[in-house]
Amino acid sequence: MADYDFDLFTIGAGSGGVRASRIAGSHGAKVGIAEEFRYGGTCVIRGCVPKKMLVYASMFAEELSHAENTGWTIGQSTFDWARLRDFVNSDVDRLEGLYGNTLGNAGVESFSERAVITGPNSVKLASGKEITARYILVATGAEPIIPPFEGSEHCITSNEIFYLDEQPKRLLVMGGGYIAVEFAGIFNALGSKVTLVNRSETILRTYEQSIVERLPPIMEARGMDLKFGQQIAKVEKVAEGALLATLTSGEVIEVDQVLIATGRSPNTNGLGLETAGIELGAKGEIPVDASSKTSCDSIYAVGDVTDRVQLTPVAIREGHAVADSLFGGNPRVVDHSCIASAVFSQPSIAGVGLTEDEARAEYGEVNVYTSDFRPMKNIFSPRMERGFYKMITDAASDKVLGIHMIGPESAEIIQAAAVAIKAGLTKADFDATTAIHPTMAEELVLLK
Ligand code: NDP
Repeated sequence: MADYDFDLFTIGAGSGGVRASRIAGSHGAKVGIAEEFRYGGTCVIRGCVPKKMLVYASMFAEELSHAENTGWTIGQSTFDWARLRDFVNSDVDRLEGLYGNTLGNAGVESFSERAVITGPNSVKLASGKEITARYILVATGAEPIIPPFEGSEHCITSNEIFYLDEQPKRLLVMGGGYIAVEFAGIFNALGSKVTLVNRSETILRTYEQSIVERLPPIMEARGMDLKFGQQIAKVEKVAEGALLATLTSGEVIEVDQVLIATGRSPNTNGLGLETAGIELGAKGEIPVDASSKTSCDSIYAVGDVTDRVQLTPVAIREGHAVADSLFGGNPRVVDHSCIASAVFSQPSIAGVGLTEDEARAEYGEVNVYTSDFRPMKNIFSPRMERGFYKMITDAASDKVLGIHMIGPESAEIIQAAAVAIKAGLTKADFDATTAIHPTMAEELVLLK
Protein backbone atom coordinates (compact mmCIF):
# COMPACT_ATOMS: atom_id res chain seq x y z
CA MET A 1 0.00 0.00 0.00
CA ALA A 2 3.02 2.25 0.43
CA ASP A 3 3.09 3.07 -3.29
CA TYR A 4 0.01 5.27 -2.98
CA ASP A 5 -0.60 8.58 -1.16
CA PHE A 6 -3.70 7.06 0.46
CA ASP A 7 -5.12 3.59 1.03
CA LEU A 8 -8.60 5.04 0.45
CA PHE A 9 -9.61 8.33 -1.11
CA THR A 10 -13.29 9.20 -0.80
CA ILE A 11 -15.06 11.75 -3.01
CA GLY A 12 -18.05 13.20 -1.19
CA ALA A 13 -18.45 13.71 2.57
CA GLY A 14 -22.11 12.79 2.94
CA SER A 15 -23.54 9.97 5.02
CA GLY A 16 -21.98 7.12 3.04
CA GLY A 17 -18.62 8.75 2.37
CA VAL A 18 -18.06 9.88 5.95
CA ARG A 19 -19.01 6.50 7.40
CA ALA A 20 -16.72 4.61 5.03
CA SER A 21 -13.83 7.00 5.64
CA ARG A 22 -14.18 7.00 9.41
CA ILE A 23 -14.41 3.21 9.64
CA ALA A 24 -11.53 2.70 7.21
CA GLY A 25 -9.47 5.10 9.34
CA SER A 26 -10.36 3.17 12.49
CA HIS A 27 -9.14 -0.02 10.77
CA GLY A 28 -5.75 1.66 10.33
CA ALA A 29 -6.07 2.75 6.70
CA LYS A 30 -4.61 6.06 5.54
CA VAL A 31 -7.70 7.91 4.31
CA GLY A 32 -8.32 11.17 2.47
CA ILE A 33 -11.68 12.71 1.63
CA ALA A 34 -12.70 15.55 -0.69
CA GLU A 35 -15.89 17.58 -0.33
CA GLU A 36 -16.72 20.53 -2.58
CA PHE A 37 -19.73 21.81 -0.61
CA ARG A 38 -20.37 21.13 3.09
CA TYR A 39 -19.52 18.16 5.33
CA GLY A 40 -22.59 16.05 6.11
CA GLY A 41 -24.10 15.73 2.64
CA THR A 42 -27.72 16.12 1.62
CA CYS A 43 -29.18 14.45 4.70
CA VAL A 44 -27.50 16.69 7.25
CA ILE A 45 -27.20 19.95 5.31
CA ARG A 46 -30.37 20.17 3.18
CA GLY A 47 -32.37 17.02 3.60
CA CYS A 48 -33.58 14.66 6.31
CA VAL A 49 -32.30 16.57 9.35
CA PRO A 50 -33.40 20.16 8.69
CA LYS A 51 -36.57 18.83 7.00
CA LYS A 52 -37.54 16.87 10.14
CA MET A 53 -36.97 19.97 12.26
CA LEU A 54 -39.35 21.88 9.98
CA VAL A 55 -41.86 19.04 10.31
CA TYR A 56 -41.75 19.27 14.10
CA ALA A 57 -42.05 23.06 14.03
CA SER A 58 -44.99 22.94 11.64
CA MET A 59 -46.78 20.28 13.68
CA PHE A 60 -46.68 22.68 16.61
CA ALA A 61 -49.44 24.59 14.80
CA GLU A 62 -51.59 21.47 15.05
CA GLU A 63 -50.97 21.26 18.80
CA LEU A 64 -51.93 24.91 19.15
CA SER A 65 -55.17 24.31 17.30
CA HIS A 66 -56.04 21.57 19.83
CA ALA A 67 -55.41 23.83 22.77
CA GLU A 68 -58.98 24.82 23.47
CA ASN A 69 -60.27 21.27 23.94
CA THR A 70 -57.34 20.45 26.23
CA GLY A 71 -58.29 23.31 28.54
CA TRP A 72 -55.48 25.66 27.57
CA THR A 73 -56.01 29.27 26.65
CA ILE A 74 -53.27 30.48 24.35
CA GLY A 75 -52.94 34.16 23.50
CA GLN A 76 -52.51 35.54 20.02
CA SER A 77 -50.01 33.24 18.29
CA THR A 78 -47.82 34.28 15.39
CA PHE A 79 -45.21 32.46 13.37
CA ASP A 80 -41.80 33.85 12.38
CA TRP A 81 -40.19 31.94 9.49
CA ALA A 82 -36.85 33.72 9.83
CA ARG A 83 -36.47 32.61 13.46
CA LEU A 84 -37.24 28.99 12.63
CA ARG A 85 -34.99 29.04 9.53
CA ASP A 86 -32.06 30.51 11.47
CA PHE A 87 -32.50 28.11 14.39
CA VAL A 88 -32.59 25.10 12.06
CA ASN A 89 -29.57 26.27 10.10
CA SER A 90 -27.57 26.97 13.25
CA ASP A 91 -28.17 23.38 14.32
CA VAL A 92 -27.10 22.22 10.86
CA ASP A 93 -23.86 24.20 11.34
CA ARG A 94 -23.34 22.41 14.65
CA LEU A 95 -23.87 19.01 13.05
CA GLU A 96 -21.54 19.87 10.18
CA GLY A 97 -18.85 20.65 12.75
CA LEU A 98 -19.42 17.27 14.40
CA TYR A 99 -18.98 15.52 11.04
CA GLY A 100 -15.66 17.31 10.56
CA ASN A 101 -14.57 16.31 14.08
CA THR A 102 -15.53 12.70 13.45
CA LEU A 103 -13.31 12.57 10.39
CA GLY A 104 -10.43 14.30 12.18
CA ASN A 105 -10.70 11.94 15.16
CA ALA A 106 -10.41 8.95 12.81
CA GLY A 107 -7.26 10.45 11.26
CA VAL A 108 -8.93 11.20 7.94
CA GLU A 109 -7.31 14.03 5.95
CA SER A 110 -9.97 16.38 4.56
CA PHE A 111 -9.76 18.44 1.37
CA SER A 112 -12.53 21.04 1.06
CA GLU A 113 -12.58 21.14 -2.71
CA ARG A 114 -13.85 19.23 -5.71
CA ALA A 115 -12.04 16.07 -6.78
CA VAL A 116 -12.29 14.29 -10.13
CA ILE A 117 -11.06 10.86 -11.04
CA THR A 118 -8.14 10.79 -13.49
CA GLY A 119 -7.56 7.03 -13.59
CA PRO A 120 -8.16 3.80 -11.66
CA ASN A 121 -5.93 4.96 -8.80
CA SER A 122 -5.73 8.73 -9.13
CA VAL A 123 -7.75 11.86 -8.50
CA LYS A 124 -7.11 15.55 -9.15
CA LEU A 125 -8.28 18.25 -6.78
CA ALA A 126 -9.65 21.62 -7.93
CA SER A 127 -6.46 23.23 -6.62
CA GLY A 128 -4.51 21.15 -9.13
CA LYS A 129 -3.05 18.73 -6.56
CA GLU A 130 -2.83 15.16 -7.83
CA ILE A 131 -3.38 12.28 -5.44
CA THR A 132 -2.96 8.55 -5.80
CA ALA A 133 -4.96 5.98 -3.84
CA ARG A 134 -5.10 2.19 -3.71
CA TYR A 135 -8.89 2.44 -3.59
CA ILE A 136 -11.23 5.30 -4.53
CA LEU A 137 -14.75 5.54 -3.13
CA VAL A 138 -17.32 7.65 -4.97
CA ALA A 139 -20.03 8.91 -2.63
CA THR A 140 -21.15 12.07 -4.39
CA GLY A 141 -24.89 11.65 -3.83
CA ALA A 142 -27.62 13.02 -6.07
CA GLU A 143 -29.10 16.36 -7.01
CA PRO A 144 -32.63 17.55 -7.73
CA ILE A 145 -33.93 17.02 -11.27
CA ILE A 146 -35.67 20.03 -12.83
CA PRO A 147 -37.77 18.97 -15.82
CA PRO A 148 -37.40 21.34 -18.77
CA PHE A 149 -40.15 23.98 -19.03
CA GLU A 150 -40.16 27.70 -19.76
CA GLY A 151 -39.23 29.73 -16.70
CA SER A 152 -37.88 26.80 -14.65
CA GLU A 153 -35.03 29.11 -13.58
CA HIS A 154 -37.53 31.01 -11.41
CA CYS A 155 -38.28 27.86 -9.38
CA ILE A 156 -36.53 26.43 -6.34
CA THR A 157 -35.71 22.89 -5.22
CA SER A 158 -35.19 21.33 -1.79
CA ASN A 159 -31.63 22.72 -2.02
CA GLU A 160 -32.90 26.27 -1.65
CA ILE A 161 -36.04 25.92 0.44
CA PHE A 162 -34.19 25.89 3.78
CA TYR A 163 -32.72 29.35 3.12
CA LEU A 164 -35.70 31.39 1.87
CA ASP A 165 -35.65 35.04 2.95
CA GLU A 166 -39.39 34.98 3.46
CA GLN A 167 -42.03 32.33 3.96
CA PRO A 168 -43.97 32.05 0.70
CA LYS A 169 -47.57 33.04 1.35
CA ARG A 170 -48.51 30.92 -1.69
CA LEU A 171 -46.44 27.87 -2.61
CA LEU A 172 -46.84 25.70 -5.69
CA VAL A 173 -45.23 22.26 -5.39
CA MET A 174 -44.52 20.13 -8.46
CA GLY A 175 -44.25 16.38 -7.85
CA GLY A 176 -45.95 13.71 -5.80
CA GLY A 177 -43.04 11.96 -4.14
CA TYR A 178 -41.44 12.21 -0.72
CA ILE A 179 -40.15 15.76 -1.00
CA ALA A 180 -43.30 17.22 -2.57
CA VAL A 181 -45.64 15.68 -0.01
CA GLU A 182 -43.44 16.50 2.98
CA PHE A 183 -42.88 20.16 2.09
CA ALA A 184 -46.50 20.64 1.09
CA GLY A 185 -47.44 19.50 4.60
CA ILE A 186 -44.82 21.65 6.30
CA PHE A 187 -45.70 24.93 4.57
CA ASN A 188 -49.43 24.29 4.77
CA ALA A 189 -49.17 23.82 8.54
CA LEU A 190 -47.03 26.96 8.80
CA GLY A 191 -49.83 28.94 7.15
CA SER A 192 -48.86 29.09 3.46
CA LYS A 193 -51.50 28.45 0.80
CA VAL A 194 -50.16 25.26 -0.83
CA THR A 195 -51.05 23.84 -4.24
CA LEU A 196 -49.52 20.50 -5.26
CA VAL A 197 -49.50 19.44 -8.89
CA ASN A 198 -48.45 15.94 -9.94
CA ARG A 199 -48.27 14.41 -13.39
CA SER A 200 -49.91 11.10 -12.42
CA GLU A 201 -53.21 10.42 -10.68
CA THR A 202 -51.58 9.31 -7.45
CA ILE A 203 -48.83 10.30 -5.03
CA LEU A 204 -46.12 8.22 -3.40
CA ARG A 205 -46.28 5.60 -6.09
CA THR A 206 -43.90 3.15 -4.38
CA TYR A 207 -45.97 2.87 -1.20
CA GLU A 208 -48.93 0.55 -0.49
CA GLN A 209 -51.69 2.34 -2.39
CA SER A 210 -54.54 1.44 -0.01
CA ILE A 211 -52.59 3.41 2.62
CA VAL A 212 -51.55 6.23 0.29
CA GLU A 213 -55.11 6.83 -0.95
CA ARG A 214 -56.04 7.98 2.56
CA LEU A 215 -53.66 10.94 2.38
CA PRO A 216 -55.01 13.22 -0.40
CA PRO A 217 -58.43 13.73 1.25
CA ILE A 218 -56.67 14.57 4.52
CA MET A 219 -54.32 16.99 2.76
CA GLU A 220 -57.33 18.67 1.13
CA ALA A 221 -59.22 18.83 4.42
CA ARG A 222 -56.16 20.51 5.91
CA GLY A 223 -56.35 23.21 3.24
CA MET A 224 -54.05 22.04 0.45
CA ASP A 225 -55.15 22.20 -3.17
CA LEU A 226 -54.19 19.02 -5.09
CA LYS A 227 -54.12 18.83 -8.87
CA PHE A 228 -53.44 15.46 -10.49
CA GLY A 229 -52.72 14.51 -14.09
CA GLN A 230 -51.07 17.87 -14.72
CA GLN A 231 -47.67 19.46 -14.88
CA ILE A 232 -46.25 22.94 -14.94
CA ALA A 233 -45.96 24.16 -18.53
CA LYS A 234 -44.54 27.63 -17.87
CA VAL A 235 -43.54 29.95 -15.04
CA GLU A 236 -43.31 33.72 -15.49
CA LYS A 237 -42.08 36.36 -13.10
CA VAL A 238 -44.57 39.17 -12.58
CA ALA A 239 -44.62 42.31 -10.49
CA GLU A 240 -43.27 42.34 -6.92
CA GLY A 241 -41.65 38.94 -7.13
CA ALA A 242 -44.83 36.94 -7.69
CA LEU A 243 -44.79 34.05 -10.13
CA LEU A 244 -47.44 33.04 -12.62
CA ALA A 245 -47.48 29.29 -13.22
CA THR A 246 -49.36 27.93 -16.20
CA LEU A 247 -50.34 24.26 -15.88
CA THR A 248 -50.69 21.86 -18.82
CA SER A 249 -54.47 22.13 -18.33
CA GLY A 250 -54.20 25.83 -19.15
CA GLU A 251 -54.98 26.91 -15.57
CA VAL A 252 -52.85 29.81 -14.34
CA ILE A 253 -51.91 30.09 -10.66
CA GLU A 254 -50.22 33.06 -9.01
CA VAL A 255 -47.78 32.08 -6.26
CA ASP A 256 -44.72 33.36 -4.41
CA GLN A 257 -42.51 30.29 -4.86
CA VAL A 258 -42.55 27.16 -6.99
CA LEU A 259 -40.85 24.09 -5.46
CA ILE A 260 -39.77 21.43 -7.95
CA ALA A 261 -39.60 17.96 -6.36
CA THR A 262 -39.52 15.55 -9.27
CA GLY A 263 -36.81 13.13 -8.22
CA ARG A 264 -33.05 13.25 -7.80
CA SER A 265 -30.37 12.30 -10.27
CA PRO A 266 -26.94 10.77 -9.41
CA ASN A 267 -24.10 13.30 -9.19
CA THR A 268 -21.74 11.89 -11.81
CA ASN A 269 -21.33 14.78 -14.24
CA GLY A 270 -17.71 15.62 -14.92
CA LEU A 271 -16.45 13.14 -12.32
CA GLY A 272 -13.96 11.55 -14.71
CA LEU A 273 -15.31 8.03 -14.33
CA GLU A 274 -14.55 7.34 -18.01
CA THR A 275 -10.83 7.65 -17.24
CA ALA A 276 -11.21 4.45 -15.22
CA GLY A 277 -13.36 2.76 -17.86
CA ILE A 278 -16.59 3.06 -15.83
CA GLU A 279 -19.77 3.38 -17.91
CA LEU A 280 -22.80 5.04 -16.37
CA GLY A 281 -26.29 3.53 -16.18
CA ALA A 282 -29.38 4.97 -17.87
CA LYS A 283 -30.08 7.48 -15.07
CA GLY A 284 -26.44 8.55 -14.83
CA GLU A 285 -25.86 6.21 -11.89
CA ILE A 286 -22.69 4.23 -11.24
CA PRO A 287 -23.42 0.52 -11.63
CA VAL A 288 -21.94 -1.54 -8.79
CA ASP A 289 -21.94 -5.17 -7.68
CA ALA A 290 -23.20 -6.44 -4.31
CA SER A 291 -19.97 -5.33 -2.64
CA SER A 292 -20.40 -1.78 -4.07
CA LYS A 293 -17.48 -2.33 -6.47
CA THR A 294 -17.70 -0.66 -9.89
CA SER A 295 -16.48 -2.23 -13.14
CA CYS A 296 -13.03 -0.93 -12.11
CA ASP A 297 -11.51 -3.14 -9.36
CA SER A 298 -10.03 -0.21 -7.42
CA ILE A 299 -13.12 2.04 -7.47
CA TYR A 300 -16.18 1.61 -5.26
CA ALA A 301 -19.39 3.66 -5.04
CA VAL A 302 -22.04 3.94 -2.33
CA GLY A 303 -25.24 5.85 -1.63
CA ASP A 304 -27.48 7.87 -3.95
CA VAL A 305 -24.87 8.00 -6.72
CA THR A 306 -25.49 4.28 -7.28
CA ASP A 307 -29.30 4.79 -7.36
CA ARG A 308 -30.00 1.58 -5.46
CA VAL A 309 -32.11 2.86 -2.56
CA GLN A 310 -31.92 6.65 -2.08
CA LEU A 311 -32.03 6.59 1.72
CA THR A 312 -29.39 7.77 4.20
CA PRO A 313 -29.28 4.67 6.43
CA VAL A 314 -28.70 2.55 3.32
CA ALA A 315 -25.75 4.72 2.22
CA ILE A 316 -24.30 4.47 5.72
CA ARG A 317 -24.51 0.68 5.68
CA GLU A 318 -23.00 0.48 2.22
CA GLY A 319 -20.09 2.74 3.23
CA HIS A 320 -19.49 0.79 6.43
CA ALA A 321 -19.49 -2.52 4.55
CA VAL A 322 -16.96 -1.23 2.00
CA ALA A 323 -14.59 -0.12 4.78
CA ASP A 324 -14.95 -3.40 6.70
CA SER A 325 -14.46 -5.41 3.52
CA LEU A 326 -11.38 -3.57 2.27
CA PHE A 327 -9.60 -2.81 5.53
CA GLY A 328 -11.30 -4.64 8.41
CA GLY A 329 -10.78 -8.23 7.33
CA ASN A 330 -14.55 -8.65 7.29
CA PRO A 331 -15.79 -8.86 3.69
CA ARG A 332 -19.54 -8.43 3.61
CA VAL A 333 -22.40 -7.14 1.49
CA VAL A 334 -25.44 -5.09 2.47
CA ASP A 335 -28.85 -6.76 2.45
CA HIS A 336 -31.12 -4.36 0.56
CA SER A 337 -34.29 -6.36 1.24
CA CYS A 338 -37.02 -5.34 3.64
CA ILE A 339 -35.91 -1.76 4.25
CA ALA A 340 -38.39 0.19 6.35
CA SER A 341 -39.11 3.74 5.20
CA ALA A 342 -41.41 6.62 6.00
CA VAL A 343 -42.81 9.77 4.52
CA PHE A 344 -43.04 12.62 7.02
CA SER A 345 -46.31 13.81 5.60
CA GLN A 346 -48.98 15.04 8.01
CA PRO A 347 -50.08 12.45 9.05
CA SER A 348 -47.07 10.30 8.29
CA ILE A 349 -46.97 7.17 6.15
CA ALA A 350 -44.61 4.27 6.79
CA GLY A 351 -44.03 0.82 5.42
CA VAL A 352 -41.79 -2.21 5.56
CA GLY A 353 -41.73 -5.33 3.41
CA LEU A 354 -43.98 -6.14 0.48
CA THR A 355 -47.09 -4.24 -0.57
CA GLU A 356 -50.22 -6.34 -1.06
CA ASP A 357 -49.74 -6.41 -4.85
CA GLU A 358 -46.08 -7.39 -4.53
CA ALA A 359 -46.93 -10.10 -1.98
CA ARG A 360 -49.66 -11.59 -4.20
CA ALA A 361 -47.29 -11.61 -7.18
CA GLU A 362 -44.54 -13.32 -5.20
CA TYR A 363 -46.44 -15.62 -2.82
CA GLY A 364 -49.81 -16.22 -4.53
CA GLU A 365 -52.16 -16.69 -1.60
CA VAL A 366 -51.84 -14.06 1.10
CA ASN A 367 -53.91 -12.93 4.07
CA VAL A 368 -54.58 -9.26 4.71
CA TYR A 369 -55.39 -7.81 8.14
CA THR A 370 -56.35 -4.18 8.71
CA SER A 371 -57.26 -1.74 11.43
CA ASP A 372 -59.09 1.49 10.68
CA PHE A 373 -59.20 3.58 13.85
CA ARG A 374 -59.30 7.11 15.19
CA PRO A 375 -56.08 7.72 17.14
CA MET A 376 -56.89 8.93 20.65
CA LYS A 377 -54.75 12.04 20.21
CA ASN A 378 -56.97 13.07 17.31
CA ILE A 379 -60.00 13.22 19.61
CA PHE A 380 -58.87 16.73 20.59
CA SER A 381 -58.89 17.79 16.96
CA PRO A 382 -61.97 19.06 15.19
CA ARG A 383 -60.87 16.97 12.20
CA MET A 384 -62.05 13.37 11.90
CA GLU A 385 -58.71 11.96 10.71
CA ARG A 386 -58.34 8.22 11.07
CA GLY A 387 -55.32 5.94 11.18
CA PHE A 388 -55.12 2.86 8.97
CA TYR A 389 -52.77 -0.11 9.45
CA LYS A 390 -52.39 -3.05 7.12
CA MET A 391 -50.51 -6.33 7.53
CA ILE A 392 -49.95 -8.85 4.75
CA THR A 393 -49.01 -12.44 5.55
CA ASP A 394 -48.11 -15.53 3.54
CA ALA A 395 -51.24 -17.72 3.79
CA ALA A 396 -49.17 -20.92 3.81
CA SER A 397 -46.65 -20.06 6.55
CA ASP A 398 -48.35 -17.16 8.42
CA LYS A 399 -45.09 -15.20 7.99
CA VAL A 400 -45.59 -11.44 7.97
CA LEU A 401 -44.56 -10.11 4.56
CA GLY A 402 -45.37 -6.44 4.95
CA ILE A 403 -46.79 -3.81 7.29
CA HIS A 404 -47.98 -0.41 6.08
CA MET A 405 -49.57 2.44 7.96
CA ILE A 406 -50.81 5.99 7.95
CA GLY A 407 -51.30 7.89 11.16
CA PRO A 408 -49.43 9.88 13.81
CA GLU A 409 -45.93 8.61 14.64
CA SER A 410 -45.99 5.97 11.89
CA ALA A 411 -42.24 6.19 11.35
CA GLU A 412 -41.52 5.55 15.04
CA ILE A 413 -43.87 2.57 15.12
CA ILE A 414 -42.74 0.92 11.88
CA GLN A 415 -39.11 0.91 13.01
CA ALA A 416 -39.97 -1.54 15.81
CA ALA A 417 -42.26 -3.59 13.57
CA ALA A 418 -39.45 -3.82 11.00
CA VAL A 419 -37.35 -5.84 13.44
CA ALA A 420 -40.11 -8.43 13.65
CA ILE A 421 -40.48 -8.65 9.89
CA LYS A 422 -36.75 -8.84 9.31
CA ALA A 423 -36.62 -11.66 11.87
CA GLY A 424 -39.27 -13.55 9.88
CA LEU A 425 -41.93 -13.56 12.60
CA THR A 426 -45.50 -14.73 11.98
CA LYS A 427 -48.88 -13.15 12.60
CA ALA A 428 -49.22 -15.61 15.51
CA ASP A 429 -46.09 -14.08 17.06
CA PHE A 430 -47.66 -10.61 16.82
CA ASP A 431 -50.92 -11.96 18.33
CA ALA A 432 -49.01 -13.57 21.21
CA THR A 433 -47.65 -10.14 22.16
CA THR A 434 -49.69 -8.31 24.80
CA ALA A 435 -50.90 -4.87 23.80
CA ILE A 436 -49.93 -1.64 25.54
CA HIS A 437 -53.19 0.19 26.02
CA PRO A 438 -54.08 2.80 24.98
CA THR A 439 -51.58 3.29 22.17
CA MET A 440 -51.74 3.39 18.39
CA ALA A 441 -49.04 0.72 18.07
CA GLU A 442 -51.21 -1.80 19.95
CA GLU A 443 -53.29 -2.09 16.76
CA LEU A 444 -50.39 -4.13 15.35
CA VAL A 445 -50.95 -6.96 17.82
CA LEU A 446 -54.76 -6.76 17.60
CA LEU A 447 -55.16 -6.89 13.81
CA LYS A 448 -58.15 -8.83 12.52
P1 NDP B 1 -39.62 10.81 -5.78
O1 NDP B 1 -38.95 9.87 -6.68
O2 NDP B 1 -40.05 10.37 -4.43
O3 NDP B 1 -40.90 11.41 -6.51
C1 NDP B 1 -40.79 12.05 -7.74
C2 NDP B 1 -42.13 12.64 -8.11
O4 NDP B 1 -41.96 13.50 -9.21
C3 NDP B 1 -43.15 11.60 -8.50
O5 NDP B 1 -44.40 12.01 -8.04
C4 NDP B 1 -43.11 11.63 -10.02
O6 NDP B 1 -44.35 11.36 -10.61
C5 NDP B 1 -42.77 13.07 -10.29
N1 NDP B 1 -41.99 13.26 -11.52
C6 NDP B 1 -40.87 12.60 -11.88
N2 NDP B 1 -40.40 13.06 -13.04
C7 NDP B 1 -41.24 14.04 -13.44
C8 NDP B 1 -41.29 14.88 -14.57
N3 NDP B 1 -40.37 14.83 -15.52
N4 NDP B 1 -42.30 15.76 -14.64
C9 NDP B 1 -43.23 15.82 -13.69
N5 NDP B 1 -43.24 15.05 -12.59
C10 NDP B 1 -42.26 14.16 -12.46
O7 NDP B 1 -38.63 12.07 -5.71
P2 NDP B 1 -38.38 13.21 -4.63
O8 NDP B 1 -37.72 14.29 -5.39
O9 NDP B 1 -39.62 13.52 -3.85
O10 NDP B 1 -37.35 12.54 -3.63
C11 NDP B 1 -36.11 12.02 -4.13
C12 NDP B 1 -35.65 10.88 -3.27
O11 NDP B 1 -35.18 11.39 -2.04
C13 NDP B 1 -36.75 9.90 -2.90
O12 NDP B 1 -36.92 8.91 -3.87
C14 NDP B 1 -36.26 9.34 -1.60
O13 NDP B 1 -35.46 8.22 -1.85
C15 NDP B 1 -35.42 10.46 -1.00
N6 NDP B 1 -36.16 11.12 0.10
C16 NDP B 1 -36.53 10.39 1.18
C17 NDP B 1 -37.22 10.95 2.23
C18 NDP B 1 -37.63 10.12 3.41
O14 NDP B 1 -37.08 9.04 3.57
N7 NDP B 1 -38.60 10.55 4.23
C19 NDP B 1 -37.58 12.37 2.22
C20 NDP B 1 -37.16 13.05 1.03
C21 NDP B 1 -36.47 12.44 0.02
P3 NDP B 1 -44.90 9.88 -10.85
O15 NDP B 1 -45.59 9.49 -9.61
O16 NDP B 1 -45.81 10.04 -12.01
O17 NDP B 1 -43.71 9.03 -11.18
